[in-house]
Amino acid sequence: MEGGLTMHHGVSRRAFVQGVSMGAFGAALTSGVGAAGGGMGGMPSTVPDAVGEDGRYSLPPLPYGYDALEPFLSKQTLTLHHDKHHQGYVNGLNATLDKLAAARQAGDYAAVTALSRDLAFHGSGHVLHALYWLSMTPGGAPLEGALLEAVQRDFGSVQAMQAQFAAATKGVEASGWGVLAYEPLAGKLVILQSEKHQNLAIWGAVPLLVCDVWEHAYYVDYQNRRPDYVDGFMQVADWRFAARRLTEALSRA
Ligand code: MN
Repeated sequence: MEGGLTMHHGVSRRAFVQGVSMGAFGAALTSGVGAAGGGMGGMPSTVPDAVGEDGRYSLPPLPYGYDALEPFLSKQTLTLHHDKHHQGYVNGLNATLDKLAAARQAGDYAAVTALSRDLAFHGSGHVLHALYWLSMTPGGAPLEGALLEAVQRDFGSVQAMQAQFAAATKGVEASGWGVLAYEPLAGKLVILQSEKHQNLAIWGAVPLLVCDVWEHAYYVDYQNRRPDYVDGFMQVADWRFAARRLTEALSRA
């Protein structure tokens, strides 16, 4: 199609290496330390306010009212999930970084294995929750433009991609996430099942749209009926956000 994607041609080694060097979760939020809120190259960040002006990670405000997704998700669920669970990952991430700084200061790396695990767990938890709130919008938003072309190319059709996304998300073992991601080495879209927050990722892949299937995301409203929750998520999915994420990922090339 005219004016189609350049991702097959435009992905540079530099961009891929940059993604890896920023780490599994650092690359996923556009506002790196020291660039809070600024985005890349003057573009507005797709995930604002996930890093504070002091360079520490911060809890971005919910991008809509706590009751805005009712009846799909209750005010109670969103309040607990955002204010308690997500805040917990932000706190855990900053505390882990403080402990690592103290370890370096003391030259004592006895706890480095546990701290490295905490860094991946809380860091990935923060990234995915920051993306999760933006992956939903009241009433949903359509899948169109460059993302639509990429989905048709890599999955055959929108219906096939959404069916795989829903099946993968429903099928996550224990706690985790369904993730639509852009894999920059091949310039392809992929769907991942993330266990906990950090397992089963592909290094360098940029998450575009995510669905939380930890029980805290749905148990108050759906009890054990995870499939009903995921079906509801598909109705409020913000594909325009995913399209902006793809544009941002491609701009790194
Ligand atoms: Mn969660």
